[in-house]
Amino acid sequence: MKDRIVDCSSCKEEFEVNALTRRLEDDSNIEETYFICPHCGGEFNVCYSDPSIREQQRKLRALYARLPRTKTMDALDELNKRIDEAKEQLGKMMEELKQTINQKRT
Ligand SMILES: [Zn+2]
Repeated sequence: MKDRIVDCSSCKEEFEVNALTRRLEDDSNIEETYFICPHCGGEFNVCYSDPSIREQQRKLRALYARLPRTKTMDALDELNKRIDEAKEQLGKMMEELKQTINQKRT
């Protein structure tokens, strides 16, 4: 994730996001990406990933890496289609995992 400036949702101060990762205590297969507000110390979740999500992220990066080497428009269309599908799949997987984790915690 690229660094960017956000407003903290609890203290409203601006700060530059510096994303951190950690393994969940109750399931070490799951990695949480989060950041901490330097003003109030509030923690904000960005997303979760499990091994299948990380595998999907690797696939997506591999597809992106092929873009500059793609020579024909047909091949480019096909590759873009595969990237879109992979992104959609990744989004669904991350949403499902987030819901599962939130259900466990409530
Ligand atoms: Zn804050």
